[in-house]
Amino acid sequence: MDRLAIVVPCYNEEEVLKLASEALRGVLEDLVRKEKIAEDSFIMFVNDGSRDRTWELIEEEHASHPAQVSGVKLAGNVGHQFALTAGLITAKDLSDIVISIDADLQDDVNVIEEMVDKFHAGNDIVYGVRRERKSDTFFKRTSAQAFYKLMSLMGVKTVYNHADFRLMSKRAVEEFSKYKETNLFLRGMMPLIGYKTDSVYYDRKERAAGESKYPLKKMMALAFNGISSFSVKPISLILGMGMFIIFVSLLALVYAMISYFSGHVVPGWTSLILSIWFLGGLHLLAIGMVGQYIGKIYIEVKQRPRYNIEKVITAEKAGNSRNRKGEDELEQKHI
Ligand code: UDP
Ligand code: MG
Repeated sequence: MDRLAIVVPCYNEEEVLKLASEALRGVLEDLVRKEKIAEDSFIMFVNDGSRDRTWELIEEEHASHPAQVSGVKLAGNVGHQFALTAGLITAKDLSDIVISIDADLQDDVNVIEEMVDKFHAGNDIVYGVRRERKSDTFFKRTSAQAFYKLMSLMGVKTVYNHADFRLMSKRAVEEFSKYKETNLFLRGMMPLIGYKTDSVYYDRKERAAGESKYPLKKMMALAFNGISSFSVKPISLILGMGMFIIFVSLLALVYAMISYFSGHVVPGWTSLILSIWFLGGLHLLAIGMVGQYIGKIYIEVKQRPRYNIEKVITAEKAGNSRNRKGEDELEQKHI
């Protein structure tokens, strides 16, 4: 039976912590009863340097439910994406399946069962996707949707309307841990891992208690980080703009020449206007060119794994091979 770990990053979540723990313990007990996960499955709260009583509450929860509740205390506030990563990587050594979910119960805990079912159906990553955004304010909804559109325009592969509520198999987290970059944008990285994936759909609810720990400023930073960490398209745009302006300068040349020969111009205007357009274009082109190299360096320094081999079937003597293949599959399941 597979051991499940539910990882919950928490920053100043004293108001919802007990609620979250209760709801998630309920889910665990239900799944254990239905024999879908191992009895020693657990919740892992990651305290992201909270300044309120969050950590004390985690300790209390652990004291009253030692088998089900565990905790990781980060030394300071590192932000949601890093806190989640710390939790995933710590939990993977203790479990076979990891599910990440926010502490505020906005994501529907009832689809966890469906996620686990989809894992058993052979998926390594199962994305929780919001069906509707009724509970979000108009502003949050439109800004978030604009963000997803912009991301895909910039060529970043993300799952539309999926935040960080997802299931990952142990081997998927292990593969993820090979991504050594420090500019983290998890939901952009997951699709790079590969393996078979699926989604479950749910309606996002209001926060159970407390207020959002993601003010507009942090959201914008996340969005910008997402784009700049995954795409060098903005640099290519500069290059393209440079080429366009140089083209315009040719049109300006024609226009200036016509004006010059028709004799209506102040002396010096022709050369001035041509220099402005041409040099402007040249500058942009040069910046764009240099940018292309910086973009490549940027991609290189991340040292991301270049591929992820899921399985190797070696050549065997005829007759023996069927048997061997079966064994390979078994081994693969148990890593
Ligand atoms: N969070 C965190 N560190 C931070 C900010 C947020 O661990 O610096 C956690 C927070 O406790 C919550 C999750 O990230 O579990 C998502 O935050 P929130 O629900 O406030 O964001 P929103 O849903 O409003 O976008
Ligand atoms: Mg939330």
